[in-house]
Amino acid sequence: MSAATAGPTGSLLRRTLSRFVQWFDADYIPEGREALWAEADKVDWMRCLPFIVLHGGCFAIIWVGWSPIAVWTAVALYLGRMFAVTGIHHRYFSHKSYATSRFGQFLLAVFAATAVQRGSLWWAYHHRHHHQHSDGPEDAHSPHVHGFWWSHIGWITSRRNFPTDYTKIRDLAKYPELVFLNRFDLIVPLLFAAAIYGAGELLAHASPALGTNGPQLLVWGFFVSTTVLFHGTACINSFTHLFGRRRFHTSDDSRNSLLLALITLGEGWHNNHHRYQSSTRQGFYWWEIDLTYYGLKALSWTGFIWGLKPVPQSIYDEAARTDHDHSVAAAQHAAAHHGDYSLATLKKVVPTAAAMAVATAASAQATAPKKAVGPAIHQDTTGQLADRLAEQPDHPTGPK
Ligand SMILES: [Zn+2]
Ligand SMILES: [Zn+2]
Repeated sequence: MSAATAGPTGSLLRRTLSRFVQWFDADYIPEGREALWAEADKVDWMRCLPFIVLHGGCFAIIWVGWSPIAVWTAVALYLGRMFAVTGIHHRYFSHKSYATSRFGQFLLAVFAATAVQRGSLWWAYHHRHHHQHSDGPEDAHSPHVHGFWWSHIGWITSRRNFPTDYTKIRDLAKYPELVFLNRFDLIVPLLFAAAIYGAGELLAHASPALGTNGPQLLVWGFFVSTTVLFHGTACINSFTHLFGRRRFHTSDDSRNSLLLALITLGEGWHNNHHRYQSSTRQGFYWWEIDLTYYGLKALSWTGFIWGLKPVPQSIYDEAARTDHDHSVAAAQHAAAHHGDYSLATLKKVVPTAAAMAVATAASAQATAPKKAVGPAIHQDTTGQLADRLAEQPDHPTGPK
């Protein structure tokens, strides 16, 4: 029966039923994937109901109260599952930055599914698409193209972003067990929520002094923790293309931020990552804290994963060059914006130079005092910097 013959009521009923089935079977798309991709961006409220319930469930803390064990459970599950999002959804499935066995891969996908960010294949497909079209019109979640809120949360509510294009991720879609987890992406989250509830009930009976129970642990460990986890992850799509420092002159507007790296266990080094996606680590230096990388490194010692890909020397060389260029640009900026800078410098330099001139005048090999010339290394590279920046006029160059 077509929508036209069914009438408005029949059409609404059909649409509602279709969305209901899609909550449980993400690959049930009667109108076809191509039809959805051809649509303009539009929030699908009915399809997003579970996502809205996830947020709404946080308000249940008013009724269930809190206990230290419930809050610590929420924190632990945030950290553990953020590791799953960045270490598995992102660094394994999206970028294959390390290797594991087929069974190991399945276990990773199950663990990552507890993050409630749909299936690993959906995640990897959309993320690879992001790298392909970063900050261009095709990028589903660029804050520069669609605005902040769309890049943060809007894009995942859009009908056209629900399907997984399996033809674009053939390296993953060839494993039926991964396709199964991706298609029925609510199974693991529901079992996970049930396990948290069960653990709360168990604690209520085994250790009443802890002051928790099933409903309380479910609200904190699942609803609150998962909602915060979603927004922590979403910061990478929104904030890391807006705020932070750009080390590399990538064709997008990705940035590095320590704060975001702490919130997301290493994903804040987003400009590094956009420059070189294949390496397991995203903090390229010891001071760029990347907890996910440390966790993956530790996991590799057990033999469960292996083949962690390093950052090539050529990228480190490029980083050294660009870091140096930025320090030159910052020095020039400071000099240009503080008119008295050169005067103050001159006041310090002139007496020193005069004293040195007097001191060396008596010498048979007296030469002009070198200190008065200034830091030669900065002067030498200014021209190179100007050349390099002239090649990329569209991108900001200084530290933000
Ligand atoms: Zn990005
Ligand atoms: Zn990536």
